[in-house]
Amino acid sequence: MNSLVDQNRVAKQLAPWLQPLWDAMDLSAFPSSVLIHGQSGIGKLKFSIELAKALLCESPISSAKPCNQCDGCRWFNSGNHPDFITLVPETHRKYLPHGDFDVDVDLPKKSKATQVDGDGEAAEKKEKKNISIEETRSAIEGLSVGSHRGGNRVILIYPLEMLRSDSANTLLKSLEEPPANTIFILLADRLDRVLPTIRSRCRLLAAPRPDRTAGLLWLRQRLSGMTDLKISAADVESIYDEQGGAPYAVLDSLIARHNKDDKDELTIAIQASRYLLQAMSQGSRINWLDAAEKTQKARYSMLLATMQRWASDLQSAAQMGAPRYYPKHEASIKALAQQARLPKLLRFWKSLIQARRHENHPLANRIQLEALLSQYQQVFED
Ligand SMILES: [Zn+2]
Repeated sequence: MNSLVDQNRVAKQLAPWLQPLWDAMDLSAFPSSVLIHGQSGIGKLKFSIELAKALLCESPISSAKPCNQCDGCRWFNSGNHPDFITLVPETHRKYLPHGDFDVDVDLPKKSKATQVDGDGEAAEKKEKKNISIEETRSAIEGLSVGSHRGGNRVILIYPLEMLRSDSANTLLKSLEEPPANTIFILLADRLDRVLPTIRSRCRLLAAPRPDRTAGLLWLRQRLSGMTDLKISAADVESIYDEQGGAPYAVLDSLIARHNKDDKDELTIAIQASRYLLQAMSQGSRINWLDAAEKTQKARYSMLLATMQRWASDLQSAAQMGAPRYYPKHEASIKALAQQARLPKLLRFWKSLIQARRHENHPLANRIQLEALLSQYQQVFED
């Protein structure tokens, strides 16, 4: 396991594609609320944690923050800084600084004994993906008193989309009248899901994803130290494309797979995504019943995202553009784009967007998947 641990020291460095965003930060005149948005899995959370540390750094010499030397930085690294408040779902807590901060990936742990079968497990999983209402309430209420160390106080919320509406309203009130020295760092994977009233009160910062070459290079550097991780370069590339070009997401899935953690869900997701792409590359010959049957165990939101990326590539190919997400399938995407009836492709695209609005709804299921895949087939028929 040592190689994984060493690797994480290296991984603490800021992702190169986020460096320009970092350089644009003016810590001495920082806005009271920023909303950092960008695709999931490109390093936004890591970036924001480093940003929070810099804002809480107490070094009087301002050149390089965080200094990692001062009391503020030490408190932060220990995971106990009293003025760093995080609202993240349980599933994301492992990324936050904690006592053993050299290891910030999910090394093997925990028994599965607490899990129960069937609906109970699904409900429990869903609960863990949400930001707790109680925590939100107590965090916001705590803002009425001053900061503990007399400096800044930073509240980090991720993913903002997972804040329930009553919590969002409480947050909104604090954003309207921000308490002194309090900085909100809000993160969203999907800006379109953030309440416009919240959006309009924040400075928006777009986090870019790397281009494919840079992203793969970064990933290869991370993986080069993980000798115990057995994976071919070709597999890395195909997982990279399947994850929509988000390097951190790829790294996470590889490490999780290595640790046999969430193995089932991940293996199912990777297999389902491959199967789905293969099925969609058949165009009008797609066996949509079979495709729905073979992929239905994977998360519906993941399947929708894959379909959306594929449809997006089809649309750009129809306009003579290059596929952005699945360059490996360029030949079949180009061929399909020529056969596609464009108004129908657009309608399919709209149906996908519609479906994504309700992707976490408990009734989002196989019948809808079948309906979408059959609609996809119609794209290629008169
Ligand atoms: Zn410091």
